[in-house]
Amino acid sequence: MPRRTYSKPTCEGCLAIDVREWHRKGLLRPGQNFSCSWSRGDRPLGTIYVVPMGDSVVVLLRSPGIGEEARKSIEQRVRIVWTPCRFGGFRPWFQCSGSPSRPACGRRAAKLYLAIGSAFACRRCCNLAYQSQAETPAHRAIRKAQKLRMRLGGRGNLVDRFPNRPPRMHRQTYYRLFAKAMAEEERLLGLEIEDMRRRFPELLPPRAAVRRASRDGKFFTPRALAAENGRRRAASRRR
Ligand SMILES: [Zn+2]
Repeated sequence: MPRRTYSKPTCEGCLAIDVREWHRKGLLRPGQNFSCSWSRGDRPLGTIYVVPMGDSVVVLLRSPGIGEEARKSIEQRVRIVWTPCRFGGFRPWFQCSGSPSRPACGRRAAKLYLAIGSAFACRRCCNLAYQSQAETPAHRAIRKAQKLRMRLGGRGNLVDRFPNRPPRMHRQTYYRLFAKAMAEEERLLGLEIEDMRRRFPELLPPRAAVRRASRDGKFFTPRALAAENGRRRAASRRR
């Protein structure tokens, strides 16, 4: 599997507007303006004002705080198209008006993203990946473990004590989530050790020696580690 990097920005890292959410909340009716704000922790990232116009919405972005370029205010009209649902009714979509690199996109999208300095556009036009596509296996394990801890009422910090069973949660559910979280945390530690082993082969005992030591209930002292690595070097010279 090729090693993945973080070079591509992700959907989760961008401000996004979601037409289905607006529809669910009944915000798309003309004549009712509304605003949306984003923040990360206590820091405000931006606010938009939305004017529904029936077959489109006008989005006004006035707030600074998402990069130098974005200090200019944006006024953008986004078309909304409706498609019939399978079980009756209609569902709305934004029609992407494209980006400077892809002016005539026209794709239907439930969500549009604000890539820095440009207008709201679909995921493809913004060249965004989903976080799960961009992350390394270790980051995926961290994210999953954090999510599970938060579901159990924890803070998502892997160094915290593991959260107790929430009062109204079934024991079975708790055990299941606990086992999942432990599996992710173990995976993370395993990946970390693998990485350390690759980068600092001299500082960690070889895997076979670790297995032997754990079978015999021993720990590696620095001296034992040096001796083990010395034996390994000697063995590799003989080969
Ligand atoms: Zn597009």
